[in-house]
Amino acid sequence: MIASWLRSGILAVAGREEIERFLRDSRFSRDLVTRFVAGDTVDSALAAANRLAADGLKTTLDRLGENVLTPAEARSAVDLYAATLREMATAGLEPNISVKLTMLGLDIDNVVAHDNMLQLLETASSVNGFVRIDMEGSAYTKSTLSIAQALHERLPDHVGTVIQAYLHRSDRDVERLIDRGMRVRLVKGAYAEPPNIALQKPREIDEAFVRLMERLLEDGRYPAIATHDPALVRATQGFALRLGIDRGRWEFQMLYGVRREAQIALAAEGYGMRIYVPFGTDWYPYFARRIAERPANMAFVVRQLITQ
Ligand SMILES: Cc1cc2nc3c(=O)[nH]c(=O)nc-3n(C[C@H](O)[C@H](O)[C@H](O)COP(=O)(O)OP(=O)(O)OC[C@H]3O[C@@H](n4cnc5c(N)ncnc54)[C@H](O)[C@@H]3O)c2cc1C
Repeated sequence: MIASWLRSGILAVAGREEIERFLRDSRFSRDLVTRFVAGDTVDSALAAANRLAADGLKTTLDRLGENVLTPAEARSAVDLYAATLREMATAGLEPNISVKLTMLGLDIDNVVAHDNMLQLLETASSVNGFVRIDMEGSAYTKSTLSIAQALHERLPDHVGTVIQAYLHRSDRDVERLIDRGMRVRLVKGAYAEPPNIALQKPREIDEAFVRLMERLLEDGRYPAIATHDPALVRATQGFALRLGIDRGRWEFQMLYGVRREAQIALAAEGYGMRIYVPFGTDWYPYFARRIAERPANMAFVVRQLITQ
């Protein structure tokens, strides 16, 4: 109860300038940031990806940034992301990135975001890479899914998206994406959403996650089961084992810096494990969501705020 209150509180203040300034300037939060963010530059992300590869872990790189407000900023995000795909290929890594449509101009116009993403997908196709369209707050769900589906018709092997188990609409969306043969990453959902849009109780979100995981493993195209929750990891392993679903047909995903030992252990057991590696200087909104996910992280930040 307290944890869920704190979580909504942290997500609600995430946009407040004074909190952002404090977290940006504080040495303590800087240390915490480096746990979740690989570094400021693409080179730091590539170095992290190479270190992870040595432990048998695959990666998807996320250039931090969201909600850009001008076409020029969106264009520059496309160029930077295209360069990231090419640099991954040159470095001998599988070119795989995760992108938010609001970074490519979704707040300006759907067509701008669509066209920018199409251009990025053409680069992905030229290096045999893959772009995962991240899912943002519920104001963007419909437009994100419709852009993702339109692009998937043109470049079906190079684009996938994300389904959030907490949304009431997700059962229908999963069936639609299974029918279309589109790759789905399943997550619990990281944004503060109201009860008419999303489940609120952790137990109900877990049940939805298991139900959607089972559908995706049974009939989905190379689904990604993205969770650090040990019970959900076990449920996924158990379901795949019971139905004889080969490990090569799906993968686990986790975030950089979260449950590192479990990441390595699952890869060593022969499960596909991809790590989401964020990098860049615009880390604040991503960091705020990671803090809100875990009572220990929240307590740490609240302590810093009180004792500053
Ligand atoms: C690869 C990947 C991509 C994602 N993409 C999206 C997306 O596009 N859209 C979206 O809404 N959400 C996304 N998420 C976030 C997701 O929605 C959840 O908010 C997040 O994964 C936490 O949920 P959980 O399933 O790990 O379970 P939880 O119950 O939150 O966590 C289970 C356990 O994992 C550990 N843990 C989890 N989070 C943290 C943390 N921040 N710090 C330290 N320990 C932690 C703790 O031990 C915790 O007890 C993504 C997550 C992953 C792994």
